[in-house]
Amino acid sequence: MPPITDNGNLKDVINNYIQKNKVMVFSKTTCPFCTKVKDLLKSMNVQYEVLELDKADNGSELQNTLQQLSGQRTVPNVYINSKHLGGCDDTMKAHKEGRLSEMLNSQYDYDMIVIGGGSGGLAASKEAANLGKRVAVFDYVQPSPIGTTWGLGGTCVNVGCIPKKLMHQAALLGHGLEDSKKFGWEVPEKVNHNWDSMKNAIQDHIGSLNWGYRVQLREKKVEYHNAYAKFVDNHTVKAVNRKGTEITKTAETFVLAMGERPRYPDIPGAKEYGITSDDLFSLPYCPGKTLCVGASYVSLECGGFLQGIGLDVTIMVRSILLRGFDQQMAEKIGDYMKTHGVKFVRPCVPTKIEKLEDGTPGKYRVTGKFTDTGKEYSEIYNTIIFAIGRDPCTSTIGLDKIGLKLNKSGFVPVNEQEQTNVPNVYAIGDICEDKPELTPVAIQAGRLLAKRLYSDSKDLCDYVNVATTVFTPIEYGAIGYSEEDAIAKFGEENIEVYHTNFWPLEWTVAHREENVCYAKLVCLLPEKERVVGFHVIGPNAGEMTQGYAVAMKRGATKADFDITIGIHPTCSETFTTMEVTKRGGGDIDQAGC
Ligand code: FAD
Ligand code: NDP
Repeated sequence: MPPITDNGNLKDVINNYIQKNKVMVFSKTTCPFCTKVKDLLKSMNVQYEVLELDKADNGSELQNTLQQLSGQRTVPNVYINSKHLGGCDDTMKAHKEGRLSEMLNSQYDYDMIVIGGGSGGLAASKEAANLGKRVAVFDYVQPSPIGTTWGLGGTCVNVGCIPKKLMHQAALLGHGLEDSKKFGWEVPEKVNHNWDSMKNAIQDHIGSLNWGYRVQLREKKVEYHNAYAKFVDNHTVKAVNRKGTEITKTAETFVLAMGERPRYPDIPGAKEYGITSDDLFSLPYCPGKTLCVGASYVSLECGGFLQGIGLDVTIMVRSILLRGFDQQMAEKIGDYMKTHGVKFVRPCVPTKIEKLEDGTPGKYRVTGKFTDTGKEYSEIYNTIIFAIGRDPCTSTIGLDKIGLKLNKSGFVPVNEQEQTNVPNVYAIGDICEDKPELTPVAIQAGRLLAKRLYSDSKDLCDYVNVATTVFTPIEYGAIGYSEEDAIAKFGEENIEVYHTNFWPLEWTVAHREENVCYAKLVCLLPEKERVVGFHVIGPNAGEMTQGYAVAMKRGATKADFDITIGIHPTCSETFTTMEVTKRGGGDIDQAGC
């Protein structure tokens, strides 16, 4: 047999044998103890792989390496499920005590395999490893139609919250530059924004986060496989990496955390010429005149920051803005964006995209149809971003092989323990049916699941009253019921809505518009005006909203807000002084401090 090498790294060669084979015997053909072990395994009908060291030209080097890895020089040297069992005596003893069968029958490669290394998957795997479990994470990014890929960390870090918030910040800084002139800064009349500088700085930061996650996994001894995993049976996955190399691994418990990917409309030219948020944040050129299709979080946020850095932006809205959110707030956001230069085409859907010119960016004609009048829409854009929703990544990972039930949109129904209909398979994050699709939700669900599985914790993830913020040019923070949902649920007579406009102090000297910022509390009259809906649009709404989420978790009433003394001068103090109700009427414009 020629020397067995892997670019000279014999440790990798040995580890490869150990990891790829459930039962691995390093042996010599002339050794009677080796024969004894092999005979035992045969008599137990156990499939094993054997490497006869005396048949390899570099057998003695391999034996030295094996000694370094296992601390044992002699053969046979037996591994089961990647764990070192020992030599002939150890194997015979384990057999006599019944431990060998136990290892062969009931032991898996890992206690837990997590599929998906995003917000939820990383949280679950690290927590399980903290609790002493053997854990592996499989994470693999399939390229977008135009070929964009990214590193470990999932949507939030690479193509979601992080680059989005940083680009939102770039836009806010531009607005701040304008304000700064009023505060005495002698900024040149014309200030340009450079897409490449922003994009590169943000991508560098993301690169450091990707690296940080890899280090964390290594430190916690979570095995990271950059490979796409599919189920073979409900304890086994087969995974393929970029080079096409396959590995098969088993685990007692599985956590599904595969997240979602953007949807494309079924119209000519969509995938050839359109992009999505998966491509935008690392786009190697400035997108230019842009059409954002869709009217939810992703579309409004991306359209908002692109306009904020100086681009010509249009948002194509099929029906309403921000479905599921308080519609008064949604329209106020739309009005603000319109005033600040974003164009809205509504109600309209695209019907085809045609390329007019190549380039970075190119030129494309977008044809659409107004859904009310049936009239045709036509306009030329440099970039078309589809933000029309996201599909769960559940259709190509062999869930049918294990009988795992999905709903008709492909989401995974789970019980309050995040358990699927297959008892040893759990699901967390964006792929779950009817759960908020937010990073902190995925993290909390993953952490608490691992604690429940591997410690005496009984804590369930509480999906009620999860605060959220839409990072549009004027931010919108929300907790609990929209006004319309509260009325539908509790009846109009049982709801009192307190509201007010406000004018941030920072905006006064800057001469920004008055009374576009707005705060609203939706209260339940029969329960001492318990606050069931919190809504605010204004600067830093995300920072404002988080603290009130704690109050609402504790069942805060309007009286609790009233007896709280505000912090002056802030926007948030508005919530401690609200007196005007919608029912009672009255002036809601801010009168001054
Ligand atoms: P993901 O983070 O999506 O991770 C899933 C991982 O699994 C991915 O890396 C995927 O490639 C991998 N994978 C899939 N299938 C396989 C397989 N078979 N084998 C191996 N690996 C696989 N949330 C907020 O809270 N705040 C925000 O501001 C915010 N902004 C957002 C902005 C945008 C543009 C988008 C798109 C989303 C935003 N979100 C935001 C939502 C947030 O990103 C998600 O809720 C969160 O990332 C979900 O985490 P997850 O663990 O469920 O999945
Ligand atoms: P959503 O599913 O929330 O919204 C999809 C939007 O696209 C809707 O406005 C919908 O209109 C429209 N639409 C759907 N199909 C078409 C079509 N064929 N043609 C034109 N328009 C269409 O998706 P998003 O991608 O915006 O967000 C996904 C999730 O990601 C969110 O629910 C959120 O949880 C998370 N996220 C969170 C953020 C944050 O926390 N700040 C930011 C971004 C995302 P219609 O109303 O008519 O159906």
